[in-house]
Amino acid sequence: MAVTGGTVAVALDVGGTSIKCALVGTDGVVRHTERHPTHAGRGPGTVVETILTVAEGLTAKAHADGLTPAALGIVVPGVVDEARGLAVWSANVGFRDVPLRDLAATRLGLPTALGHDVRAGGLAEARLGAGRDAGQVLFVAIGTGIAAAHVVAGTAATGAHGAAGELGHILVRPHGPVCGCGRPGCLEAIAAASAVARRYAELTAGSDPAHHDGTRSESRYAAGPGPKRTMVTAAEVAARAAAGEEPASQVWREAVDALADGLATAQALFDVETVVLGGGLAQAGAGLFDPLHAALRDRLTFHREPRLVPAVLGDEAGCLGAALLALDQLETP
Ligand SMILES: [Zn+2]
Repeated sequence: MAVTGGTVAVALDVGGTSIKCALVGTDGVVRHTERHPTHAGRGPGTVVETILTVAEGLTAKAHADGLTPAALGIVVPGVVDEARGLAVWSANVGFRDVPLRDLAATRLGLPTALGHDVRAGGLAEARLGAGRDAGQVLFVAIGTGIAAAHVVAGTAATGAHGAAGELGHILVRPHGPVCGCGRPGCLEAIAAASAVARRYAELTAGSDPAHHDGTRSESRYAAGPGPKRTMVTAAEVAARAAAGEEPASQVWREAVDALADGLATAQALFDVETVVLGGGLAQAGAGLFDPLHAALRDRLTFHREPRLVPAVLGDEAGCLGAALLALDQLETP
């Protein structure tokens, strides 16, 4: 029987809640996607078994479609030692020094690469997405946290201990809110989506209920009726800021200023051509990019200003990056 398809990489992007999967051709074209629950609560051993089973299913799917699975790429969050193939530490998946690359290579019999989810996303944006015309790219993912990937000539720097790119933990406000890492004033404690939502809730908490005439009214800022409010999301804060609502504008300004401080530091360190902003908050469009661009320009003196652009690959970026890591091994055996 003739093999009609091409060579594909089997790619898995493991997150705290789901595993995004794809079969990706050597041309970077996605041939097939799947998504599976991670079941992180069942413990790291079960998560590893789930990953391996899902990868086996994908290779079977490739064969069934007449494709040749030639390599496997897995990306995970946390600290990843790519050279040794170790998932060193991950809070949301529970990994501690899991030799995931070798476990997968043994089970599947394919050359396997293990990578870091944000670095892989940055790699994909730099090579296939918003940074494809630039040789030096900084990818910044702004979601519940903030992390970055510095990509030079198509390779994302890992750092000596697999922990490069922790832009979210740059100190930007010495007396600022305490970060999840335990230190006050980290960038992500002010500008991550979760921080924006939290700050807005703080500022509007006392804004309710009585007017000067003594009548109760529903707060303009309350997400719903009743004493217990639903948390307003960062995207909604951005929308309210764009509409000129004052507490939202203040929170948004604080976040943009902190981001600009972080990006100015990053530019001083890396001097990139293009900064690609990804993650949920980057979807705020001009409401983010216009003030951020101005604030960053204010902070740069002799440094060259980078191009500031939104990511284009969406939540497929991690999976595409996993595929690139997998396919890169075939070129440099
Ligand atoms: Zn921190």
